[in-house]
Parts: sequence; C-alpha cells; structure tokens
Amino acid sequence: MLRDEKLSPIFANDFHVHTSYSPCAKIKSEATPLEMVGKSEELGMKTIGFSDHFVQFPPYPTPKWKDCNVKMIESLQNDVVKIHTQVQILIGVEADVVAKDKLSIDKRFAKELDYVIVSASHFHLPGIEKPKSTNILDIAQHYVNRLKIALSFDFVSIIAHPFKTPYNPLGSPLDYLNKIPLGQLYDIAKISKQKKIAMEINAILGIDKDYLTAISDFIAVCKEVGVKFTYGSDAHNKTALVPSSGIEKAINALNLKPSDFLKTNELIQNHKSAFD
Ligand SMILES: [Zn+2]
Ligand SMILES: [Zn+2]
Repeated sequence: MLRDEKLSPIFANDFHVHTSYSPCAKIKSEATPLEMVGKSEELGMKTIGFSDHFVQFPPYPTPKWKDCNVKMIESLQNDVVKIHTQVQILIGVEADVVAKDKLSIDKRFAKELDYVIVSASHFHLPGIEKPKSTNILDIAQHYVNRLKIALSFDFVSIIAHPFKTPYNPLGSPLDYLNKIPLGQLYDIAKISKQKKIAMEINAILGIDKDYLTAISDFIAVCKEVGVKFTYGSDAHNKTALVPSSGIEKAINALNLKPSDFLKTNELIQNHKSAFD
C-alpha cells in the first residue's frame, strides 16, 4: 500500500495484533504497544485490537506461553492507558482450544476483556491435542471437532485463521478441507451465525495460496448463511500491520465486501451480550 492511498475500511479495524508480550514477537522494540499504535495511526486505522497469546491456567499449549496470563494482560492494560491516540484500542486475547471441551481461558476472565479470539487449530504446538491418526479423514474431522468446541463457548467472539495451522504440520489445507462434507461446513456456519461468532480473514491468506483456495468454499458458505468476518493481520511487529497487495487480492477473490465485516461496536456489543 502506498502512503497516500486511503486505507480500505476492511483494514481500518484490525482485531488480531500481537505485541511484545507475545513470546513469538521476536523483535520486541518493533512490537511494543506504543509502536504498534503509532503505526496504526500512521496507516489511518480506526481500531487496533491487541490479541496476545493467552493461557489463564495449565495445561500450556507450549511452555513458552507460561507467562501469557492474567498478569500479562494487566501489564498491557497499564501500557495502553498511557497511550494518547485517536485510534480505538481494544484489549482481547488469542486463546486456544487445548483439549476436548477445554479452552485456555474461562468465562469469568473473558468478561474483563473487550473480546476473545480462539484458535481451534494450533496443532503445531506440543500441548494441543492432535488427531487420533495421520489418516486424512481423521485430520479433517479433528479440524471440524475442535472448531465446534470453540463455537460451543458463548463468550468466544472470533475464530482465528479457521482451518489453518501455522507451518501445515498436518498437511496442506487443500488436502483436509476437501475431505469435509459441505453439510458440515453449513453446520459450522449456522452455529457461528447463531452464536454471533465471526470468522477471521487472516493476512496469511495473502501469502498462502493453498489456504486461500482451500478455504473459499467455507467462506462462501459463511457469507451465504450471514456469518460476519473480521480482518486480522496477526502482526507480530509494526511493519506487519501494513496490508499486503496479496491480502487485498485474496479478499477480492473471496468476494468479501466491507459490509461483510463486523464493526468495532458490533464486536464489543456481541461480547457484552454473552454476559447478560
Ligand atoms: Zn494463531
Ligand atoms: Zn496470532
């Protein structure tokens, strides 16, 4: 994106942004909350949603995340109150489905946040339950089952990078997504719609052509059913907040319009309504 070009409204609200508190943010000085907000201001963003990895209690998806707890969120909150900006800053988390019927966050703490992203597909991490075999049908059903577990919690706001595992340890999304019957995709979409849980359009779609091809049917089904989407850069440094030309093309290829995306006040409202 060129500096003078106006930011597309889709990228103006980025709800999946890591800070230096995430262990995987390698260049800490390029990912402090202040640096991230500064960059978002420069880009003309309206909302930046911080969503560091979060594990409230053991078991840990990876031992590296043992300090990604309530104290970490308190530190982040303390940093954020000191930042003066026009950009709306939200504090969320990227939590995990760690095992059957088990998230890395509970409802009581979720209430303290602006929203909750859940990843149901971090299968590259040692502490996340794997499929029962390497059979492609078992892999496909494992993705479906874990996603359904995430959707069964009413305080979940967004599913992170649906059906995508970093580094593809279970094979290409093209292989396992092809093995999920269309009816199951409709089931997932209907539950998401009913629970007001959004599906994330992750910036990795701008780079990973297999994921883009594989996910297109699911995105079309979600759109048809009326599920909303959110954009997530998944940035771990400030440069990654800049939308690539690839992600713009991917969003066009998926036929998504700004009206398909959740607005900031809708996200906050959906989250609040889980605690009424
Ligand atoms: Zn993730
Ligand atoms: Zn992330």
